[in-house]
Amino acid sequence: MTAVTALPMPGKHYLRGRWLEGAGERFESRNPARWSEVIGIFPQATAAEVDQAVCAARDAYPAWRRTSRIYRAELFDRLAQLIKAETESLAVLMARECGKVLNECRAEIIEGLHMVQYVFGTARMPMGEVLASEIAEKDAYVRRKPRGVAAVITPWNFPFAVPLWMLGPSLLEGNTVVYKPSEDTPAIGQALVALLERAGFPPGVINLVHGAGEVGELLVRDPRVNLVLFTGSYEVGARIQQISAGMVDRICACEMGSKSAVIVCADARLDLAVTASILSAFKTSGQRCVSAGRILVHEKRLEEFAQRFVELARRLNIGDPLDERSFTGPVINEAAVRKISYYNQLAREEGGQVLLDGGRMLDEAHRDGWYMSPFVYRIQHRPQIRCIREEVFGPHVALIPFSTNEEAAAIYNDTDYGLSLAVITEDYRAMRFFREECDFGMGYVNLPCIGAEVHLPFGGVKKSGNGRPSAAGLIETVTHRAAWTVNHGWEIRMAQGLKTDLD
Ligand code: NAP
Repeated sequence: MTAVTALPMPGKHYLRGRWLEGAGERFESRNPARWSEVIGIFPQATAAEVDQAVCAARDAYPAWRRTSRIYRAELFDRLAQLIKAETESLAVLMARECGKVLNECRAEIIEGLHMVQYVFGTARMPMGEVLASEIAEKDAYVRRKPRGVAAVITPWNFPFAVPLWMLGPSLLEGNTVVYKPSEDTPAIGQALVALLERAGFPPGVINLVHGAGEVGELLVRDPRVNLVLFTGSYEVGARIQQISAGMVDRICACEMGSKSAVIVCADARLDLAVTASILSAFKTSGQRCVSAGRILVHEKRLEEFAQRFVELARRLNIGDPLDERSFTGPVINEAAVRKISYYNQLAREEGGQVLLDGGRMLDEAHRDGWYMSPFVYRIQHRPQIRCIREEVFGPHVALIPFSTNEEAAAIYNDTDYGLSLAVITEDYRAMRFFREECDFGMGYVNLPCIGAEVHLPFGGVKKSGNGRPSAAGLIETVTHRAAWTVNHGWEIRMAQGLKTDLD
């Protein structure tokens, strides 16, 4: 199968190296920019098919972990060549299936490529340690070993790069995988697995099952799955951890949502502050895990900042993802429209002063898709207000005044999340203050709070992540470190002076 077939794509599971129609009900993937366009028709995996997928991954595991790490890496080199050759067709498929604009889709394919290149590059780097022993004749080593079968469960908003953040380190280290993409982006998930097949990953090493949350939950409930690598909302991540709590040898890596923020200090360069804030709040229509739902602005700068920010937000080109001039496209589906509209209304009820009244765009150019325009409001930080604490995942942003850096840090930390932070300042003491005082996983200075690179750890704190970062950081999760001690002496001598005479 090629990576991208003609649309609508015939959806199939991929089990034990075979593409299967599946026995379950069918569901459609549609273009959020033109809802009448069907991208593909996919089978919902049955319990028996999920079971077969886990069996296939279990059966393939012993032979796969015994292959050389360098051999496994070379398959990733082949995958990199295939991704390079298919970048444009994959980007177009992604734009049509998830509504992100072409430039962002290309950037995401390239981010996935970077992960594959990173994995290939690390294969010849040291993968363990040599340590001293108390006994001179003993050599002690730490070796990394794979954990077994991984379930990879991913969201719709980064349907190529995020799966590769997880598949890359897992497969390189000798684990086998059952992958369930989001039901909103099964076509791009299937295209990725078709590339892995073409790169030569053996049957059973990577398996694909389509379907909704129930399919993910069947995988999570299966005790033969050693690792659950999940990216998505806090609610689902918390459920996965709850189900896994009784399985003592189960490891879960959960990367979840956020209420990220930009802090615009009193000395900020305004041009930079406005550009960084627009990108943070409205790129991908606010549907990045790191999107800024809050912009904290020093009270002395709020009037001029708000005026320029709102002026620019009003003029953003929101339109067809395939049109290179579009800044951003639609939101993912009708449920997202309902959720964002709910939070826009909640912000009004909680005392927000609306500066730009966003909502569903129903003019001729937009009415066939799920387009939402930016909603901007000014609000004083107060305890218990939900609209400035909960993740909206859409073009909805609060401008919140502060008077001191201490107050800004306290407001920043006053959510259950801790993922991304941007500080706009010229003051190196202020930068350090926010770095030390705020709870975040990715911090930026004079930049937007979006824009990850794969060789940096990607993970949040509090309800944003459970301390097992993705991308380059994932090697710690997908391997365990085994101690290995070898005696080169002719007799047994023990550490700590332990006696060995048997008389
Ligand atoms: P989601 O609803 O949590 O879904 C994520 C994945 O989990 C999907 O494949 C989903 O399947 C599956 N799922 C749903 N219920 C499940 C269950 N009970 N057991 C196992 N799997 C289940 O998230 P989303 O709407 O796709 O994505 C948006 C969320 O992801 C936002 O909160 C965003 O902040 C977060 N996100 C976080 C990061 C990060 O690295 N921190 C990156 C990107 C996105 P279906 O989609 O088929 O229902």
